[in-house]
Amino acid sequence: MVMIIRSIIGRSISTAVLPHLRLRYFSVTSSSAAAAEAERSIREGPRNDWSRDEIKSIYDSPLLDLLFHGAQVHRHAQNFREVQQCTLLSIKTGGCSEDCSYCPQSSRYDTGLKAQKLMNKDAVLEAAKRAKEGGSTRFCMGAAWRETVGRKTNFNQILEYVKEIRGMGLEVCCTLGMLEKQQALELKKAGLTAYNHNLDTSREYYPNIITTRTYDERLETLNHVREAGINVCSGGIIGLGEAEEDRVGLLHTLATLPTHPESVPINALIAVKGTPLQDQKPVEIWEMIRMIATARIVMPKAMVRLSAGRVRFSIPEQALCFLAGANSIFTGEKLLTTPNNDYDADQQMFNLLGLIPKPPDFSDDSSNDFEGEELKESRSALG
Ligand code: SF4
Repeated sequence: MVMIIRSIIGRSISTAVLPHLRLRYFSVTSSSAAAAEAERSIREGPRNDWSRDEIKSIYDSPLLDLLFHGAQVHRHAQNFREVQQCTLLSIKTGGCSEDCSYCPQSSRYDTGLKAQKLMNKDAVLEAAKRAKEGGSTRFCMGAAWRETVGRKTNFNQILEYVKEIRGMGLEVCCTLGMLEKQQALELKKAGLTAYNHNLDTSREYYPNIITTRTYDERLETLNHVREAGINVCSGGIIGLGEAEEDRVGLLHTLATLPTHPESVPINALIAVKGTPLQDQKPVEIWEMIRMIATARIVMPKAMVRLSAGRVRFSIPEQALCFLAGANSIFTGEKLLTTPNNDYDADQQMFNLLGLIPKPPDFSDDSSNDFEGEELKESRSALG
């Protein structure tokens, strides 16, 4: 900093003046909670004892200051050029018994979506192969179920898919609803990298969005996933009609879990006709930036995923999200049942912004049942 000040003011500056300038510089740049907490995060690393007020103060910081300090933490805690590319496939679509107000797959809403059975193995593996060829390093499978309990045949099929896809050298993620402990252990044994189960919103606002399962049931599933040694992927959706306080509440719950989720998806609602939230106004890019930068400062090591709703944002808008701390996206034609960004447009964006794909990470791997040839090759290629 002294060097920069010298180069701006001139080399003849008296060293007696420098402490004063230094103080002035920090009093200007460190005035917000975002600045103070970013500096602390860089100095001391992640913490889990956040108060809700502390997170609210970060969230309420002046937007450009928040963006700047989100970027600062991002550059310290992550490789800022790397962006993880995940492909999400709906392997069992529609007909879900739950009442999530944003979801076109709930059987309670007339959205014109046709319910389908579990996709067969060939179709799923073909989709995973295409995802890998398209540059994805993580393949996520979503099933529109309340839970996996009582679905033994389907669950065993999915375990098979996990093994096969992991053997192709891809990280594998599932989102199948609520999980029991035993099922989490079986998924881990099959080679699952991560399990997605979003909290969606704050505990207080949650009953306005879903009534068929509780917030605590969601947290219990996350606990089973964590105890099984599977990475936790959990985030939420903004634009549900919640207050900013609820967005802070969501981040507070995630950032005070005993271990932060490895992935935190930040979704902007895609209002689907026929759902109770069909008339919600679209989320603005500034709201996404505020969420992403706050998430980055309070959970510096997590992959913060710019998820649903990305399709509405221009490349300059997405660039601001990456700058604020996002480092993961979904690629592929669809996000479960809603439209997603064009693959070629994403590749052009990577080139334009100087982003590079994040390689798969198998460092947490403790299961050996799925050592496919391609996985071995992928490992040796990564050194
Ligand atoms: S979000 Fe999941 S659990 Fe909720 S209705 Fe949709 S498919 Fe069912």
